[in-house]
Amino acid sequence: MLMGTMKPRYASNSRHDLTGLPPAKRDILKKGRYSFPNAIMASRGCPFNCDYCSVTQYWGRTYRVRPVAEVIAELAAMPEDHLVFVDDNICGNPAYARELFRAMIPLKKNWISQGSITLAKDPELLDLAAASGLSWLFIGIESINPHNLKYMGKKINKVEEYAASLRTFRDRGMNVLGSFMLGLDHDDKDTFRHTLAFCEENRISGANFYIYTPMPGTRSFAKMEAEGRLLHKNWTLFDANHVVFQPLNMTPAELLEGFLWLYNSFYSLNSLRKRINLSQPSLLQTVALNIGRMVRRQAFVAACRS
Ligand code: SF4
Repeated sequence: MLMGTMKPRYASNSRHDLTGLPPAKRDILKKGRYSFPNAIMASRGCPFNCDYCSVTQYWGRTYRVRPVAEVIAELAAMPEDHLVFVDDNICGNPAYARELFRAMIPLKKNWISQGSITLAKDPELLDLAAASGLSWLFIGIESINPHNLKYMGKKINKVEEYAASLRTFRDRGMNVLGSFMLGLDHDDKDTFRHTLAFCEENRISGANFYIYTPMPGTRSFAKMEAEGRLLHKNWTLFDANHVVFQPLNMTPAELLEGFLWLYNSFYSLNSLRKRINLSQPSLLQTVALNIGRMVRRQAFVAACRS
């Protein structure tokens, strides 16, 4: 019934079938304006259920996939060889990922995406990913402290397996863009230094550091709110670059400064020298990413302090 007003929220009570989605109209993108004009999604969701994750809150705990033939047809029509899969977890369904990667091999693409560290334990899938052109994988390492992983419900990560898993990626010529959260309940002022050492020992090509941020709608947010530890609800600052909660083992200011120290230390020539391997594939991409972030350090720090 037409009422002349909008509802505050429109929500579907079913999830859309991903079969028959029209391909993106990439020809309307202005050339040179996007780092990755060839962005594509083969799946939506993630089968895991981490407490802090907004993906599972948004999509539900489902993992939906597009038919492989439709993804391949869209990939084949892309004018360039570099592309990004913007999937939440490209290897969330190993059987599907196997089929997709195998079908991609003849296309000779070079691609990046995000996926869970569980991929390292599936050599066949990893080989197929390498053969299909995977060059960078964004992986949620999150914390090097097992108590933190338990605290946030990240059951798939095992600290004792990190070094072997990261070596597995390196051995296949894949770069890891590690994702780390700082300020968790088992972190203290030494965590920043230990995290930097971990990244250097394991030759992490690039890293995204985030201040732990309980996102609305997640179990982590409900817990933080119940404990009375949210500092405010100014959502514009819930960007993982600002402290929005009271940490347990440091002050909010110490958390911010430790986070900035880690960012500045990781994106330094001294650290890059320890992490880089001159014979690694995608060497130029690794250098470009690191130098690019070094150049933007000052602006990044200013934005975090604002
Ligand atoms: S593995 Fe990543 S995407 Fe999946 S539930 Fe955990 S945080 Fe979310």
